[in-house]
Amino acid sequence: MTALTYEEAQERARLLDVRGYRVELDVTGGEEEFGSVTMVRFGCRVPGAGSFIELSPARLRRVVLNGREVDPATLTGNRLPLPGLREANELRVEADMPYSRTGAGLHRFTDTADGETYLALHGGLDNAQRVFAAFDQPDLKGPVTAAVTAPGNWTVIGNGLARPAGDGRWELAATPPISTYLVTLVAGPYVSISTEHRGVPFGLHARQSLAAPLRRDAAELLAITRACFDRYREIFAEPYPYDSYDQAFVPELESGAVENPGCVTFRDDFLSPSAVTRAERQIRAIVIAHEMAHMWFGDLVTMRWWNDVWLSESFAEYMGFRVLADATTFTGTWTTFALARKIGGYDADQRASAHPVAPEPQDVPDTDAALASYDGISYAKGASALRQLVAWLGWPVFLAGINDYFARHRFGCATLADLLDCLSRASGADVGEWARPWLRSAGVDTLTVSRPEPPGRVGCISHVGGRPHRVWLGVYDEGPGELILRDRIPVHVPADAAAVVLPAATVRPEPALLLPNDGDFSYCKVRLDPVSQNGLASSLGRLSDPLSRAVAWNGVRDLVRDGEVAPRQYLALAVRHLPGETDDSIAGHVIGYARWTIADRYLPPGQRGAALADLTSLCRDLLGPRPAASKDHSGVEMRLVAARGLIDSASGPDDVSALWSWLAAGRVPGGPDLDSRLRWQILLRLTVLGAASRAEIEHDADQDTTAAGRLSAARCRAALPDSDAKQAAWGAMLSGTLSGYELTATAQGFWHADQADLLSGYVPRYFAALADAAASGAVGLARTWCRHGFPQHAVDAVTVRAAERCLETGALGQGSLRRLLADQIEDLRRAVTVRSAAW
Ligand SMILES: [Zn+2]
Repeated sequence: MTALTYEEAQERARLLDVRGYRVELDVTGGEEEFGSVTMVRFGCRVPGAGSFIELSPARLRRVVLNGREVDPATLTGNRLPLPGLREANELRVEADMPYSRTGAGLHRFTDTADGETYLALHGGLDNAQRVFAAFDQPDLKGPVTAAVTAPGNWTVIGNGLARPAGDGRWELAATPPISTYLVTLVAGPYVSISTEHRGVPFGLHARQSLAAPLRRDAAELLAITRACFDRYREIFAEPYPYDSYDQAFVPELESGAVENPGCVTFRDDFLSPSAVTRAERQIRAIVIAHEMAHMWFGDLVTMRWWNDVWLSESFAEYMGFRVLADATTFTGTWTTFALARKIGGYDADQRASAHPVAPEPQDVPDTDAALASYDGISYAKGASALRQLVAWLGWPVFLAGINDYFARHRFGCATLADLLDCLSRASGADVGEWARPWLRSAGVDTLTVSRPEPPGRVGCISHVGGRPHRVWLGVYDEGPGELILRDRIPVHVPADAAAVVLPAATVRPEPALLLPNDGDFSYCKVRLDPVSQNGLASSLGRLSDPLSRAVAWNGVRDLVRDGEVAPRQYLALAVRHLPGETDDSIAGHVIGYARWTIADRYLPPGQRGAALADLTSLCRDLLGPRPAASKDHSGVEMRLVAARGLIDSASGPDDVSALWSWLAAGRVPGGPDLDSRLRWQILLRLTVLGAASRAEIEHDADQDTTAAGRLSAARCRAALPDSDAKQAAWGAMLSGTLSGYELTATAQGFWHADQADLLSGYVPRYFAALADAAASGAVGLARTWCRHGFPQHAVDAVTVRAAERCLETGALGQGSLRRLLADQIEDLRRAVTVRSAAW
């Protein structure tokens, strides 16, 4: 498939305007292909000129342009030439299209639990053309009507309100103008819960085998949906733009969720039959709020070209975290933002591939390069920049600016310049001046606090970087049992200031801890003075605000990453401070980082065993009696975090026998009970350690025929520590027959630090196979394999060199796949450096 370039998109947008699509699909015709008829009405500003429309069919049957037959053989790759256009044109395209198994196009999934089949259009970027003929670029928006012919017991939903028209046919109402990448259709024997809120039909949908968790969670999901809907209604002058709001939990979606106007699609593992923590429920709620924000940011007003992905994602990210905290009982969202999202922004922003939040359009040369824009910079850094912007302008002025932006560009497209104009008008300030360092340049600033040295001189915050920061400095004194917050002092660090002097009251009397960026309002690296470092080492867990603890944990993580603090210090801090932790989000993230990055990648192999032992012993502590005074929202959830941590870190014979006894008893002593997720997690760990056999995997696979169970079994089979099992998993991964989810699960099962010797021969083969897959056009497979199948544990110079040689072959092209591998190599190189440092 040829990627559309920026120049081509610009030229086509100058020439054409889309007046409407009608898309008719017939999905009754078998497992491989579906029928697709597209009718497009469009104008051409230069009569006689030619253009093209995109389509990736299995078979192009018929093309009629302005009443004249066009030879289907003129289709070249994914482009159908449209010569001799008139001022007003009508195009009809009839084709058979292939179903997708890898999450690009109309994805077809058959549920192993009951044999039922489900379809969902997995759109985004240039995937619409895999379903219908499309002018597939974001700034050619048009109204869409659709009709789907489906088996009689199916439900069809999509962007416009869907109504059954008899004989399995469904008609979908016309939408306002929308971009092709946001068109969706969802079809299958879905279970639906329908209601109405403020005159707008709301629907929740899931496959039949997830009916129980859907019904269990429906009240919570709808309460969050209503609360967020009301909040957006209150703050946005522009009313909700579409005729309905469906939320469909669809199988095998590659991303977390997709913001299709009027019909958001979510990964259906958000509906887990197994127990989840409050932190996980909060993440699901954040995603609900995020996708709803997109109805305005991205759907109502759309970026002109993919360089402005941030106009969608940074805003949806910021609004999602903010609105959820403002409108629901999930008030701890910014702690999760710091721990789960912002670190992805910091990591991406410190790699060679870092880019500005809002790059120039030429810097995203085509739709393939655009895929790489969906990263920690466009989401987390952009959202952090907006949080800074609000800290500067104030919420009412910020809202006035964005409401003006909606009013001016509703149902159209916009750029960074359009947004800045609106914000500058609303504030009377030069927001462009602020945007230059924050949105137009890559990288992270560093704020370092220092005390008066020698005493009698001044303390200061020194600043490396070129961005203005409005931050709060936390001043803490030692108190009985906790660090007492003396004050949070607002500090303005101008863009060009090398240092800002602190008021004398900040440092006299001498505080135990000075914490820059307390409250996490800015986006920066923080470095502490030596006294504060000591204070933090002894008292991190005694900071009363979880958000302050999150800032502190991120600060330590950054020091480890930069090779300034020994990785075992992070582990020591976890062992010291987590037993008193009351926030399951913090505990989960810290244990996860210690387990998968510190133990597996940053510590020398000789220290790994001791690290895992420390982690299991920490998790046993967390499973013990909790301090009576703790303010847990629920000790149950902390126990779940601890049980998962213990399972993942189990290594010695005592751990193995403990896990077998949990399986036998069906529960962790004292709780939680083992559900399917925990059972499979235990079986995976036992398999990796060589303590569970293929027979045990097959026994559990027979008991659990759900789609999630199938994936878990595949993960376990790939994890068996024998050469036949590894060879079988390897062959399956390269076969090209696995769905994206199956490939991911198999790859996750394949590599383990515990099996480094057994796997060493596969490391060079991995890079050769990756290059082959990319060169042969299996880009989806290569991408999934690079993201989820990279040999993370093989932290050594030989692997770095093999990876670099793979990059040098050029087989991965110049776009998003190359970037994925380059980023993996950079992280690997960093791990080699950290691991080999002489601590
Ligand atoms: Zn989004």
